[in-house]
Amino acid sequence: MTVVQITTTILICWVIFIIVWERISPYRKGLPFFREGFWIDLVWYTIIQSYILKIVIFDYIISPLQHHIAWQGVAFFKSWSITEQVLFFLVSHDLYIYLFHRLQHRSKLLWRTHEAHHSGKQVDFLAGSRSHAVEIIINQTIEFAPIVILGAHPEVIPIKAMLDAIFGMFIHANINVKLGKLKYFFNSPELHLWHHANYYEVFHANFSTKFSIWDYLFGTIYDPGNKPGNEPENWGLYYDFPKDYFLQHAFSVKRFDEKQLLKHKGFKYYYELRPNVLKSLKKLFGIRNNAAIIEIHQHVNLSPERIEKNADEKLICNQ
Ligand SMILES: [Zn+2]
Ligand SMILES: [Zn+2]
Repeated sequence: MTVVQITTTILICWVIFIIVWERISPYRKGLPFFREGFWIDLVWYTIIQSYILKIVIFDYIISPLQHHIAWQGVAFFKSWSITEQVLFFLVSHDLYIYLFHRLQHRSKLLWRTHEAHHSGKQVDFLAGSRSHAVEIIINQTIEFAPIVILGAHPEVIPIKAMLDAIFGMFIHANINVKLGKLKYFFNSPELHLWHHANYYEVFHANFSTKFSIWDYLFGTIYDPGNKPGNEPENWGLYYDFPKDYFLQHAFSVKRFDEKQLLKHKGFKYYYELRPNVLKSLKKLFGIRNNAAIIEIHQHVNLSPERIEKNADEKLICNQ
């Protein structure tokens, strides 16, 4: 068995384990498996975006960069064992992610690359996959380029990628878990689900990904001991955000009012295509009520100016 086959097998088992755990001990009761935005996160973010960006990052950024630098690796580093190399990148990249994540919540420009990650109001194991393409390109290039350029063992890449996925699913999972004293070191849903809650107090808190120790060290921990409310307004963004993958990316470049755009025939056709296809499929299989259909027809109440103003107010308030 190759390392990739082993890491893939572990990941499949982890997905099953987390799904069962979410059913047995949910953090928020009543969260459906096919929750709002499930298919967008699975099809667009987890499968299509990941596949395309993997090619972009490795073949079009890291490979030319490595060719340009023309190093054969760093001798002392190459002498480390796989475990030592994995640990080194795990800790150093996690510190980087903490700092960059913190910056994304502070800078208006960088917030545009991160707001999509906060847009879901129903957070579960799959929700962590929702990350703007630019955010992924920046973070994964900074994550994997040093591994390649320093000449780490090739197996470090799939092992590191597996650990990313394992932690990513765990901290977003809708599971009621208390880590006890370990929470001062390892991140958990107990802390990260608060980061996805819509409260001023947490807009600049709980930035850690794998190791919560950064939040404790740098004084950005928010751990009130209770849970956020269970209403939609208690979660996600405080302003309306598009539900469609492409519109989510377009919205990061230019704010728009979906209601106004719906006046254009072509846009209306595109906008209603997915819910209409889903509606037909549901009719075909005789399934009633679907969050995905309702969600995309939700009213957009705020004008782009108001959204912009709200975003500015929130950033300023929390600085
Ligand atoms: Zn965040
Ligand atoms: Zn998150």
